[in-house]
Amino acid sequence: MSNENLDPDSKGLWNRARMICISMMQGDEKRTRAERNFSMIQSVAREGDTFKIFTLNKLSSERFEKEYGEDLRKSFLLAGADSSVKIEITFDETAKHEIVIEKKEEQPAKPAASHEKTETFISTMPLKEYYTFEEFVEGPSNSYVFAAAKGVAKNPGAKALNPLFIHGGTGLGKTHIMQAIGNEIKRTYPKYAVCYLTAEALLNEYVNALTQGRIHDFRERYRKIDVLLIDDIQFIAKNMQNFQEEFFNTFNALTNADKQIVLTSDVPPKDIPGIEERLISRFEGGMLQEVESPGYETRLAILKKKSEGMDPPIRDTTLKFIAANIKSHVRAMEGALSKVNIYANLDPKMQMTDANLANILKDFIEKEKSRKKLTIDEVKNCVCRKYGVTLEQILSTERTQSIVTPRQLAMFISRKFTTRSLPEIAKHFEKSHATIIHGVKNITNRLDVDPELKQTLEEILDELGFTMGDMVDGNM
Ligand code: ADP
Ligand code: MG
Repeated sequence: MSNENLDPDSKGLWNRARMICISMMQGDEKRTRAERNFSMIQSVAREGDTFKIFTLNKLSSERFEKEYGEDLRKSFLLAGADSSVKIEITFDETAKHEIVIEKKEEQPAKPAASHEKTETFISTMPLKEYYTFEEFVEGPSNSYVFAAAKGVAKNPGAKALNPLFIHGGTGLGKTHIMQAIGNEIKRTYPKYAVCYLTAEALLNEYVNALTQGRIHDFRERYRKIDVLLIDDIQFIAKNMQNFQEEFFNTFNALTNADKQIVLTSDVPPKDIPGIEERLISRFEGGMLQEVESPGYETRLAILKKKSEGMDPPIRDTTLKFIAANIKSHVRAMEGALSKVNIYANLDPKMQMTDANLANILKDFIEKEKSRKKLTIDEVKNCVCRKYGVTLEQILSTERTQSIVTPRQLAMFISRKFTTRSLPEIAKHFEKSHATIIHGVKNITNRLDVDPELKQTLEEILDELGFTMGDMVDGNM
């Protein structure tokens, strides 16, 4: 996203309004979705009292207006905007969401011959300009990743760090670090073609190329990139054998030419469900790094950084309160911070005592507590009762559907509604990581098409004191 057109005040206002609007969304799922949608905004400009927010195209403008227009207008007011400030959600027909990887040759002698194959564009998603190394807080939980990322940015394509594979739980900064690498390389090597895509977006590109008979073109293009950043590579396995093959070849072509590849994933390469052996060995062939959950000091430092420039300023005691009470992931900490900011704006005289903070942040804290409290045993017992199966059956390897469903559902709930780690869950079910991930994925897919299963899940969650809205988005 680029806000280069904004003066510092307007930029501050826009950043605050954006954060407030995202934090107004109820539930993790909606918030994560809003985050994603806001990150797809192409640029923001100010003309007089009007903020123009440019999205990808007409359709996304309409959707964005419908989904966030009203809340965003409120958020501007909450962020301290004058009531004369207007916002317009629009799109720029002339903007290209592509990077040029080869300048077209000027051929003034010939008129532009449209049938000539001179297309040299490649799709990429915009990098958030504030995802930089400077904005990233280093701590014991991420210092190795941070060092490796800086190494890559300094010397893209160096063998020892190629590919750089970053894995770790959701909301711990993988996307931030990856985009920081992209931003830094673009700054220091302006000629480099840097391409950032989620694995899902790359898959879409590939499928489009296939259906339009442009596969050769797709190959050519992606092999001209200098730095390929693929986020959430765990999606690669979505029953797409051909895609894995294509990716394997692109991967080899790029690394053989000393082009840099960076990948992120929720899980280490070997635990990506359905992944081919040869890809695992390629992914493990460079630098493998894990981001872990930050400890208290790092959480506090992150909060300090994120609260810089907030108006009114957030006090240290407030930051300490948040750091001590919200631990599960950085995204939740950011949500808590914006919520405090909203309240501080609504009632500037309010004293931010621990009691007031506990009240304002009740939702966040309760969720944190119940996640911590909920054990895998409770989940298993509750599921067994509901389905009338025994614990032995759940732990067995029996493949009958009447056992497989409760088994996988229990895995799903353990993964999405507790703070237990993947290894812990695997141990409790006496299964491998990959089996757990496969089970969780299977339930995720079925929930979209099986209302009965969804109903059962909701009933079980109700017994455990949760709702669907409490789900940790992204934990595979
Ligand atoms: P992931 O991709 O691992 O799910 P993100 O990169 O999307 O996580 O991070 C979620 C949010 O937390 C982002 O807004 C990011 O800026 C912030 N964040 C995470 N870790 C850090 C850190 N160490 N320093 C600063 N911000 C961080
Ligand atoms: Mg991410």
